[in-house]
Amino acid sequence: PPRTSNRAMAESVKVICRCRPLNKRETDLSCKVAVQMDNSRGQVALINPEDTKGPPKSFTFDGVYFVDSTAEQIYNDIVYPLVENVLEGYNGTVFAYGQTGSGKTFSMQGDDLTPSQRGIIPRTFEHIFEATATTDNSKFLVHGSYLEIYNEEVRDLLGKDKNQKLEIKEHTEKGVYVAGLSMHVCHNKRDCDELMKHGFNNRHVGATLMNKDSSRSHSIFTIYIEMMEERADGDHIKIGKLHLVDLAGSERQAKTGATGDRFKEATKINLSLSALGNVISALVDGKSKHIPYRDSKLTRLLQDSLGGNTKTIMVACISPADNNYDESLSTLRYANRAK
Ligand code: ADP
Ligand code: MG
Repeated sequence: PPRTSNRAMAESVKVICRCRPLNKRETDLSCKVAVQMDNSRGQVALINPEDTKGPPKSFTFDGVYFVDSTAEQIYNDIVYPLVENVLEGYNGTVFAYGQTGSGKTFSMQGDDLTPSQRGIIPRTFEHIFEATATTDNSKFLVHGSYLEIYNEEVRDLLGKDKNQKLEIKEHTEKGVYVAGLSMHVCHNKRDCDELMKHGFNNRHVGATLMNKDSSRSHSIFTIYIEMMEERADGDHIKIGKLHLVDLAGSERQAKTGATGDRFKEATKINLSLSALGNVISALVDGKSKHIPYRDSKLTRLLQDSLGGNTKTIMVACISPADNNYDESLSTLRYANRAK
């Protein structure tokens, strides 16, 4: 990607923090809420349960969303402008980061039954097809693809053979792509919703002690928008690409009781997550000559959609409970490196 000034770069990566409500298990355990948020300042404070009188650990982000916040608010505040940018022909990436059970999938896919909590992904579908319906003099072609990275192996969630491992390749014009990944034409929001649901059901799920539906894989839903504008001076083609990424749980293996295969997975997951953290912080820092995209499948795949004139949003998801203090702190520190 082309080089950009530090200021432009800082503008192009936005980090927000979302804290979900206490769940039943936490309430049953009489957990205390260890998180405080100050919306006007974008500040989140985390109280150490072993030192409740001491100063809380405090972080500032581009937005903070407390327990009763909605995906609708998050979309309107922060995701909407990114999707507008994609509709101009730029690339963009939205990540959800956090420990298992912190609300990543809830934020990305959301809750169908509560309209205000429909997730970021279906909202982008709606936004895109609204734009295509209301823009004159342009023709649009929308495709979707959905893959997962599990144990540093890439698989198609919408392909004929879900067990086939796919290779990441680079093309001088096309850029980075996954060879053999199935592309699906979407005519409307419903087509996209169906792809999302179908692929989601094919995701790799493993049972850990923390959450039996815990996802051990990174999943990437990508929307490709080709726009052909008919102008007096000829046709203009723009292509925008939007990656919507639900990352694997960021928790360290000790707490999840992982052994054997689960342990091997955890180290691979952490490799991709730490590579992602390194890439984003190198981009934000602006001083590094070398951006270590090649260190993981995740960063290689997203290479042309991180940095340069693309926009990136990280949604750092945390639990409010004091017994998750260590994991929440590690999520906030990770997110803090990205701004
Ligand atoms: P993750 O994908 O990070 O493992 P989930 O998104 O599956 O976590 O969330 C775990 C549980 O918490 C789910 O039952 C989900 O519905 C609930 N949840 C997560 N975030 C929120 C929220 N902001 N408000 C209400 N419920 C939430
Ligand atoms: Mg999930």
